[in-house]
Amino acid sequence: MTHTAAPISSPDLARRLLAWYDRHRRRLPWRAEPGELADPYRVWLSEIMLQQTTVATVGPYFQRFTSRWPSVESLASADLDDVLTEWAGLGYYARARNLHRCAGVVAMEHGGRFPDTEEGLKTLPGVGDYTAAAVAAIAFDRPATILDGNVERVIARLRLVTDPLPGSKPKLKALAARITPMERAGDYAQAIMDLGATVCTPRKPKCLTCPWSDACVARVEGVAEDLPAKTPKKAKPTRRGTCFFVTDGQGAILLRRRVESGLLGGMQEVPSSPWIEEAETVSARDHAPVAGVAWRELPGMVRHTFTHFHLELTVLAGRVETGPEVADARWWPVERLGEAALPTVMAKVVRHAMGHLS
Ligand code: SF4
Repeated sequence: MTHTAAPISSPDLARRLLAWYDRHRRRLPWRAEPGELADPYRVWLSEIMLQQTTVATVGPYFQRFTSRWPSVESLASADLDDVLTEWAGLGYYARARNLHRCAGVVAMEHGGRFPDTEEGLKTLPGVGDYTAAAVAAIAFDRPATILDGNVERVIARLRLVTDPLPGSKPKLKALAARITPMERAGDYAQAIMDLGATVCTPRKPKCLTCPWSDACVARVEGVAEDLPAKTPKKAKPTRRGTCFFVTDGQGAILLRRRVESGLLGGMQEVPSSPWIEEAETVSARDHAPVAGVAWRELPGMVRHTFTHFHLELTVLAGRVETGPEVADARWWPVERLGEAALPTVMAKVVRHAMGHLS
């Protein structure tokens, strides 16, 4: 190992990384085989699913989506509820609705073909800067610079960028852009993400096997594991709420559809009071969906963490003989709950309640 970083030119860095990629690329369900053209639909779908979710989680979802809806046209003509059901568990349901809208726009306004430039892609619903760059590079071989968490880490280390994220993003992007090659831009985009995911890992980067090892300033300075620096996050607040788990004489459970806008918009929920930061009070019971029920508080609590807050839910259980009509709600037979597209937090509420009632 040298004690100063070697001055390797950008084209040489790109060449080395591509040579490494040709030998060590990850096999991923949405990735084209060497020499095959990437399908823009599969690339776009995987990129939307991968936002804030891991490759391992996305794999089975991607397989189910593409076997059920193998083309953008088939996804466009799918029922939104079916799409939300398949999406359940991936979180961020606004993304699933945008996914469906985007498929509609591509099918109806673009003849089923995705725009092939970053600018064109950015006009689609739910496609932001990152996704547009990723699809332009991977599906259309455009020399677009993508900056995900993996790329940020690799570039911060290679070029010793010590300013903290997220403020350092523009600088990291500019540095990354200088290395992005004109040739094999799609492979390069995937190569740098693979390098971050498998070699330049957050802990214990495998610098000895890294194709950029001798050029990497953080490695030479012995500070690779300290980068990228991050601005300390504000502590997440905790919100609290009460869920009303009510069953009827046939054992059906009342589920309500949440309003379209906002968190978990349009998804089914076990009816609940608003989620607020103040301590819950008895007035939470004013939000009960059915009047005249003798509610019983179940022991324990359901906890879930969203991006911006922790949630603690108290669950009240009740029973009615005949389930009355409730606005935006349906009585769901237990055996059909799988079709209800319950978001993860609500699946936890149901499990918690059924665990105490069985
Ligand atoms: Fe990351 Fe180490 Fe490679 Fe530098 S040498 S880019 S720290 S794996």
